[in-house]
Amino acid sequence: MNSKHQYVELNDGHFIPRLGFGTYKPQEVPNSKTIEATKIAIEAGFRHIDCAYAYQVEEEVGLAIRSKIADGTVKREDIFYTSKLWSTFHRPELVQSCLEKSLKKLNFDYVDLYLIHSPMELKAMEKCKDAGLAKSIGVSNFNRRQLEMILNKPGLKYKPVCNQVECHVYHNQRKLLDFCKSKNIVLVAYGALGTQRDKQWVDQSSPVLLDDPVLGALAKKHKRSPALIALRYQLQRGVVVLAQSFKENEIKENIQVFDFELTAEDMKDLDDLNRNYRYLAAEFGADHPNYPFADEY
Ligand code: NAP
Repeated sequence: MNSKHQYVELNDGHFIPRLGFGTYKPQEVPNSKTIEATKIAIEAGFRHIDCAYAYQVEEEVGLAIRSKIADGTVKREDIFYTSKLWSTFHRPELVQSCLEKSLKKLNFDYVDLYLIHSPMELKAMEKCKDAGLAKSIGVSNFNRRQLEMILNKPGLKYKPVCNQVECHVYHNQRKLLDFCKSKNIVLVAYGALGTQRDKQWVDQSSPVLLDDPVLGALAKKHKRSPALIALRYQLQRGVVVLAQSFKENEIKENIQVFDFELTAEDMKDLDDLNRNYRYLAAEFGADHPNYPFADEY
């Protein structure tokens, strides 16, 4: 394990790098961009790559990772790769086949972490861990009630190691974070930079997170960018954070998140920005009984 990277121990004994590279891309962006950006990210020092069956770029991400393995930059075991089970594969007998489809596209033997993309049953996921196809299993977009449902399930074999949720200074998930910490579940933040403003999912009139004046003032104070302040905030509250970009300068900048520290007062100013604002509310699913965002947290 490369000591330059900071890791958090998961409740099953595996380690997750505290900074991850996000690979979701809007439809209009060509897939070749993903190959290029993922290679740049690995060269810049990212070791945690977040992807999903639904992003439809696992072939490209796999290609990029394997090319960085082939040229000696990394070994497979240096990379922490996350994939996610998509909602059309929730029937227990389909779970492993979705993971196997991802593995085939990636040309990998295993993923490091397999997440349920949105609230569902965990039993078939446990089987993927037992089969060695996923080192760790976790969840995404679960609220407290849904996490408790899983944790209280009779015969639960493996606790989810993490809950990957939208988390940034406008929605800092304080209560969910405290709950996850109390259960030894790592909170992984997506959209930490205000999400990609993909027309398909994000209201184009929503506030631009990185233009926030408090982030701007702290950036000036620390001689860093607002993006680095937003990422650093998450690390200092014990959150594993994902950062997406297709731009080489941004990717290289984001890895510098380990090079400086915010004060307690800075952290308080950032906490005060919270307004429980979601960029990705997935309102089309609001009528579904498992819609996770209707509860307070
Ligand atoms: P994000 O990480 O919040 O990034 C948003 C945008 O920030 C980027 O598109 C980039 O835009 C800009 N940016 C990045 N670095 C910057 C820098 N140093 N300076 C200025 N701007 C910078 O976006 P996200 O893709 O929504 O979330 C990250 C990852 O989380 C995804 O890629 C995906 O892997 C995961 N995710 C998971 C779920 C889930 O349901 N589990 C949902 C959403 C996302 P520009 O390139 O235009 O500058």
